[in-house]
Amino acid sequence: MTEYSIGVDLGGTNLRAAVVDQDGNLLDQVNVATSPDKGRDYVIGEIVDSIQKLRAKQSEGRFAGVGIGVPGFILIDKGIIVGSNNLAFLEGFALRDDIERRLGAPVILENDANSAALGESWIGAGQDVDDLVLLTLGTGIGGGIIYGNRVMHGREGMAGELGHITVVPNGNPCGCGNVGCLEKHASATAISCLADLMRVTPHPNPSAEEIFKLAAAGDWKAQQIFRSMGEALGVALAMLINTFNFPLFLLSGGPLPAWDYFAPAMIDEVKRRSFTYRNTKTRIEKAKLGNQAGLFGAAYLPFQAQNYRA
Ligand SMILES: [Zn+2]
Repeated sequence: MTEYSIGVDLGGTNLRAAVVDQDGNLLDQVNVATSPDKGRDYVIGEIVDSIQKLRAKQSEGRFAGVGIGVPGFILIDKGIIVGSNNLAFLEGFALRDDIERRLGAPVILENDANSAALGESWIGAGQDVDDLVLLTLGTGIGGGIIYGNRVMHGREGMAGELGHITVVPNGNPCGCGNVGCLEKHASATAISCLADLMRVTPHPNPSAEEIFKLAAAGDWKAQQIFRSMGEALGVALAMLINTFNFPLFLLSGGPLPAWDYFAPAMIDEVKRRSFTYRNTKTRIEKAKLGNQAGLFGAAYLPFQAQNYRA
């Protein structure tokens, strides 16, 4: 008999949910707007409702449960969000247990970048290895560490905050309290801010995509921005490679099309700073599942339930 699960990717004002079988085939998917202005109880009702509708359409197969990827810090054993910019109204509340009670089915909460790393490990760019690191380049930078095909959580679930490792000792200040965090020097937002300061475009706040197009058209300042971003990524990756000696390090997110403009500086930096890289067959590659990675990873969580309960 086949088994299926439901993965949910929960954002600030919308959710995506997918039915996936145990081999990673997508059976059904919905995108739903949520109403955070109506409060916690209402939004949880919306989440539960979306899941139940998807479940009602499945006529066969055993239901393994629900995995939910959320942006923020989670106490993994307890299933509680303790810090999230986009989901502040769900913080400090027994979210997992509440959804579980309403659904009458097992639920697992996971950080969204960890879910994305797990998705790539399961059916994406990391299928052929057991251990990998994923960096998601977006507004910030998320990280996920997969060891033995499972998310590495650390003591309470906060391992893998790779966007906040220091790459420039006295660099740009970060909301986390540190200065010189990777995400302040290599995220899509960092690229836009730098381009803004350098007046690369005649209008303010250009997107990372605009900067990429300019770099491709030969604009020297735009190319310099991607070199600087590549160096910052290279410093971080060298540190991670020296620490883990994993076979694979993946990058995903909006700036990936600019790979040819940031990757050479990134690889130079990794070679310079990592003895391990120079002496092993470490691969640094693009992730494959795009913005579906988190959804597939979330759907995989119920099949790994033993990694989530004390
Ligand atoms: Zn930081």
